[in-house]
Parts: sequence; C-alpha cells; structure tokens
Amino acid sequence: MTSLRSTAHDAGERIRSAGLRVTDSRRAVLDAVRERPHASADELFTLVARTVPNTSLQSVYNALGDFVEAGLVRRIEPAGRPGLFELRVDDNHHHLVCAECGAVEDVDCTVGAAPCLTPSDAHGYAVSVAEVTFWGVCPACAAASR
Ligand SMILES: [Zn+2]
Ligand SMILES: [Zn+2]
Repeated sequence: MTSLRSTAHDAGERIRSAGLRVTDSRRAVLDAVRERPHASADELFTLVARTVPNTSLQSVYNALGDFVEAGLVRRIEPAGRPGLFELRVDDNHHHLVCAECGAVEDVDCTVGAAPCLTPSDAHGYAVSVAEVTFWGVCPACAAASR
C-alpha cells in the first residue's frame, strides 16, 4: 500500500526534496535501496558499482548516512547483522528475520503509527517507537533441514 508512495518520484527528485545535493552516486545508491530492500551497505555497494564504477564503499556509506538522517531511508539493525536499509520509512512496519540464512521480510504494522505497542511498565519514559523483530526459520531453511 504505502510502497507505491516510495516509488512515485524518481531518485533525483526525492534526494532534492530532502534538501540534499543530487549526485550520480547518491542517485545510484537510492535506486539500489529500492531494487534490493533490506540489503547491507556492502551489498548495495556491489549494485552501485555496476552503474557508477568509480564509486567507493565509503561514499555509499556516506550517502546512506545522509539518507537516513534526512528520513529518506530507514536503517534496521537485527542483532548480529550489519545495518540493513530500505525505503519504507513512514509506516512503522516490523520485520521477520531468519536466524539461519538472514532473510528478512516486512511485516505490516496492524496499527501503522508508532508506538504500536506499549510496555507493561514504561518506567516514566515517553515511549516513541516500538520496533519489533520476529526471529524464526524461513520456509527455505526449514525445508533444507528436513
Ligand atoms: Zn532462512
Ligand atoms: Zn522493511
């Protein structure tokens, strides 16, 4: 549903509207995040290097950092995995992670706005976000171990 909004504009336009300077490298990084949701910076670098051969891993990291800061890209960090990047930033969705192969699936939030869960005791904290990671074994890994 909301993924349509994420792809409505071209990369250059989205970068510009976030107040960032548009460069070939930034454009390629944003396209790579769209093409491969939940990829790590290393994986995105491999994709970007195909279209922008003179790019560096550091410039991919920098672009991702700028995008996250500008709210264009969301970074998730399942325990024990590198940071993973995606364009779905504003729907408070959650993730299923395979503990064996590291596959990641989006799980729509039933509420859609953060925080969608409240702690049994908030200890006086003003809670802003509840980020849920469901860990399990994906169907492919379950089939392989059978
Ligand atoms: Zn798996
Ligand atoms: Zn996601």
